Amino acid sequence: MKAESVFIDGSWRKSSNGQTLDMVAPSTGEKIGVIARGTAEDINAAVAAARKAFEGVWGQMPAVERGRLLSKLGQAILDHEDELTDLEALDTGKPLKLARGDIKAAARYFEYYGGAADKLHGETIPFLSGYQVMILREPRGVTGHIIPWNYPAQMFGRALGAALAGGNATVMKPAEEACLSVIRLTELAADVGFPEGAINIVPGVGEEAGAALSAHPDLDLISFTGSPEVGTIIQKTAADNHVPCVLELGGKSPQIVFPDADQEKAIESIVGALVQNTGQTCSAGTRVLIERSIYDDFMNALTKRFKQLQAGPHDLDLNCGPVISKAQQERVLGFLERAEKDGIEVAAQGKIHEKAPEGGYYVPPTLYRVVPRDHELAKEEVFGPVLSAIPFDDEADAIRLANSTDYGLIAGIWTNSGARQMRLAKGVRVGQVYINGYGAGGGIELPFGGFKKSGHGREKGFEALKEFTVTKTVVINHG
Ligand code: ADP
Repeated sequence: MKAESVFIDGSWRKSSNGQTLDMVAPSTGEKIGVIARGTAEDINAAVAAARKAFEGVWGQMPAVERGRLLSKLGQAILDHEDELTDLEALDTGKPLKLARGDIKAAARYFEYYGGAADKLHGETIPFLSGYQVMILREPRGVTGHIIPWNYPAQMFGRALGAALAGGNATVMKPAEEACLSVIRLTELAADVGFPEGAINIVPGVGEEAGAALSAHPDLDLISFTGSPEVGTIIQKTAADNHVPCVLELGGKSPQIVFPDADQEKAIESIVGALVQNTGQTCSAGTRVLIERSIYDDFMNALTKRFKQLQAGPHDLDLNCGPVISKAQQERVLGFLERAEKDGIEVAAQGKIHEKAPEGGYYVPPTLYRVVPRDHELAKEEVFGPVLSAIPFDDEADAIRLANSTDYGLIAGIWTNSGARQMRLAKGVRVGQVYINGYGAGGGIELPFGGFKKSGHGREKGFEALKEFTVTKTVVINHG
């Protein structure tokens, strides 16, 4: 694998200054390889290659053929499922079962967008007599994509699937903490025959290659998934060149439980949506809001389930893996320490498996019993397996509480009353609402994105194709 290289204009090469970064397995803390430390010069070359591709072979390719290439890549990913699963689990520390799901999802993005490429079309508009108006839907041009470390393979599929289906030429900067699967997926993309320059990948440090990409004047759009802080920097930087941004940032997503819900089903789903990827999912359900009348009963059952959770190395395939890095481990443990100082009661804590290597970055899954509404555990994204329980009085209070953070990504609503389901779905200010279920990160077909500090723009589904393309109005005076 060409892990130590950047991929520009169809060829693998060393970064412009030859530097590399060490990659570490979160399960053990041990070095597993190196990646290229891409530079601003590499980003310049990648954007130029993308521009050339957009104005050349790739830009001229009929949609049906673009779609075929995407579908072929989807199949190639499935053909390499075992290898990619192992790589993703090793690189991110996520349990094997989850890594396998991620690889299947990456394939599914290319299948979905492969099928969609030739079904994205314009419109006509009735206008004055003697006129014909057409709305063409065109690619943006060159799109930049900065992705995080939590779901590298899925993010590759999500960003590039939609951007390429829309006819854009792309430059991606994957995350320095984990991107080995992205490099392998790029090799597969080259093997199935994407033309030179359609896909360019420059791994490296955020403040270097990432900053150079977001500041590049020759981009037509940038999509970013990551922290709100970096999202703000990227948006400000892109604004200097009037480059539009699609931002998918954090969340503090609520699971809202009413007394008439199927409690057993709710508990299983709430726990699953928290521990998925060790809580390192922007759409993780990290607040459980429970109606006061059932609070104690529900919490007792949730506590019992929570105590069974285990964290351990990816190959033991437990509920949680390690978190991604030492820094992230310290950040999550910092939340736990401050909560202890603030006297917030721990309701239950999962275990760290006895076979978890000493050097790995483990944190125990933790459930807090009653988190005050203004505490950081009720407001801020931890990005670890930490669940805050909070009681509410009635429906209006539940909506107020659900909307009381700076975020607005997704929400789960647990009730069997149809009217209440609908009122809540309309009342919460989030991009996705699940009723009697919860799909943290799931659903390739489902438009996804935030309100407020969770970002703006929509990815996934057909909406992403619209974001990554643009309309042009053509008015014909035919007399
Ligand atoms: P997290 O906090 O989850 O690590 P970040 O927002 O820091 O997420 O990182 C997400 C992506 O943004 C990574 O690819 C990272 O390299 C990149 N990045 C970080 N800082 C910057 C920056 N100043 N400009 C552009 N990209 C950045």
